[in-house]
Amino acid sequence: MPEGDVVWYTARRLHEALAGQVLTRSDFRVPRYATVDLRGQSVTEAVARGKHLLIRTGNGLTVHTHLKMDGSWRVFPADKRLTESRKIRLVLANAHWQAAGYLLGITEVLPTGKEDQVVGHLGPDLLGPDWDAAQAVGRLSRDPGKPVGEALLDQRNLAGIGTYFAAEMLFLRGINPWRPVGEVKDLDALAELGHRLLDANKARPGHVTTGDTRPGRDSWVYGRAGRPCRRCGTLIRRGEQGPPGQERLRFWCPNCQR
Ligand SMILES: [Zn+2]
Repeated sequence: MPEGDVVWYTARRLHEALAGQVLTRSDFRVPRYATVDLRGQSVTEAVARGKHLLIRTGNGLTVHTHLKMDGSWRVFPADKRLTESRKIRLVLANAHWQAAGYLLGITEVLPTGKEDQVVGHLGPDLLGPDWDAAQAVGRLSRDPGKPVGEALLDQRNLAGIGTYFAAEMLFLRGINPWRPVGEVKDLDALAELGHRLLDANKARPGHVTTGDTRPGRDSWVYGRAGRPCRRCGTLIRRGEQGPPGQERLRFWCPNCQR
């Protein structure tokens, strides 16, 4: 699932292609919005809010999308013929560029003044202008019995972290994902680490936390179950965590993370 850094990068690409230009085409391929026509409206900006994407128009409308598991936005020259069209949920185009949203988990239009209805529940955005570590720590601490791995993924606590960054943050801080939040001493350092890791990854595709971008070397624990820990050689474990029906993968070193 795309995490906050990927969504931030996507928003920047959409902003570069669409902002300041008048839409010449809007093609919603989701039933509820099939008749919406944004042609003639000028896009003012595209921004990320946690893992949500907001494309705003000068007429006070916001196109809200979320990549969920498999979604992506791709930008092409305006005259390129789009392929895989069955996977496309929305096309927005101007005289120069067309942006196609593939397999989007959410595609909707709402008044910009009502964006809070879709993103108002989110905690401080790790890549937002309003990033506030103290507020994130306050939110994480509200449920001290919750496993820290679960609390980090709750977007109401802090927005932008997915399973990759949660696994890597907890390894780098030596914290077992099952440790209750209330027993994690330095939540400030954990939140700030999340901010630094996402920030360092936002300006390009892909993630790396080890400083080594070569394939297979870009993570400490994520995706490395059964392989030796890069620090101590203990085999990395994999498990699932989360409320029933919403379990998510965890990777950790049982020796380095307590
Ligand atoms: Zn280890």
